[in-house]
Amino acid sequence: MPQLPFLIVGQGLAGSLVALSLLQRGAAVTVVDDGAADAPSRVTPGLATPIAGPRLTFPPSGADSTNGSWRRYRELEHQLGRPLLTAHQILHAAGSREELAQFQKRKRDPIFARWLGDQFSAGAHDGLLADPWGGFEIQGGQVNVPALLETAADMLRERGALRQGRVEPTGLAIEDGRVTWQGERYREVVFCDGPAGAANPWLTGVGLQCVPGEVLTVRPAVPVPRHIYHGRAGYLAPQPGQHGLFRLGATYGTPNTAAQATEAGREGLLSQLPRLLSRPPRMAVVDHLAGTRPATPQRCPVLGRIPGRPAAVLNGMGARAMLQAPYLAECLAAHLVEDAPLPDGVLAPAEPA
Ligand SMILES: Cc1cc2nc3c(=O)[nH]c(=O)nc-3n(C[C@H](O)[C@H](O)[C@H](O)COP(=O)(O)OP(=O)(O)OC[C@H]3O[C@@H](n4cnc5c(N)ncnc54)[C@H](O)[C@@H]3O)c2cc1C
Repeated sequence: MPQLPFLIVGQGLAGSLVALSLLQRGAAVTVVDDGAADAPSRVTPGLATPIAGPRLTFPPSGADSTNGSWRRYRELEHQLGRPLLTAHQILHAAGSREELAQFQKRKRDPIFARWLGDQFSAGAHDGLLADPWGGFEIQGGQVNVPALLETAADMLRERGALRQGRVEPTGLAIEDGRVTWQGERYREVVFCDGPAGAANPWLTGVGLQCVPGEVLTVRPAVPVPRHIYHGRAGYLAPQPGQHGLFRLGATYGTPNTAAQATEAGREGLLSQLPRLLSRPPRMAVVDHLAGTRPATPQRCPVLGRIPGRPAAVLNGMGARAMLQAPYLAECLAAHLVEDAPLPDGVLAPAEPA
């Protein structure tokens, strides 16, 4: 008898990648998405930053997750026949002498060194980066998230496995260890519902927080080399597939407040520019978006089965989803289908309150 499908709630970055990983393991899926325009996966510029922060750390799920995610994008590009991840030099302006010392320490550690390039002195790179302390290169990249979501949606649609609509968590029932939704039975439900998960009664044990952010799409008045310029004042990154356009980001709002594109956010991002670029060209604002980062107080993603229920979750990847989501989706699929152990560096969902 054919296996029941998994019901995946959400077709953002997490839901798309979990669906692709489950399909690859021969499982059936039904993915349902309500198309929220402010879903972070529809707002993010997709910076894949392997090492970040003043201590220069990997994303919370660690080096394996970073390496595994990078590899997974390359596999998916091969499988789906579409470029998804563009490698980019991230030109990072150091914020202090201590940060440069930390860079030199990391360069001596092979686990970090593969993601780090050269140190540069102040004013290198045509003097465009505002880098009074100098800086260093991070071997990062940029994920074309719209292309990934669109390609996954096409593949799911072809199989009749994508539905538009909302899964009301209170409308899910458990019968004989299976999940029923709208009269149909599913093997398990997998919540990849992003910030909406904060109000999901199945996920009360997770403690999700929502951190709003704004980002601008800008067109510089003179050509700017297509690097990712990065510093404590934010970043300017090329818009994938859009020549002459860049994303300027991002703000961090008060947790658990609504995401809105505000005048203050726009002005704040534009007024930070001289701290990021020493000779910022005039920028025409082409677009202004706001979205919410789903995060946890521990700053770790949440991954695994919800105790006592035929239900699982991938959520809480915060501001560093790009180099966590593909690996964690693979781990979750292997866990659900093959009973593989879950990786370190993630939180297990607690029982709903
Ligand atoms: C301004 C901004 C900039 C960012 N920049 C970066 C960056 O550069 N690099 C990086 O790594 N990360 C970045 N992030 C974070 C990253 O975008 C998110 O962590 C990631 O996209 C979350 O993906 P997700 O699939 O978990 O959630 P989502 O993108 O929210 O996807 C969830 C999907 O589920 C749907 N859904 C929710 N509930 C239901 C329901 N009940 N029924 C049906 N459908 C439902 C939603 O419509 C949505 O499509 C940024 C976020 C923001 C807001």
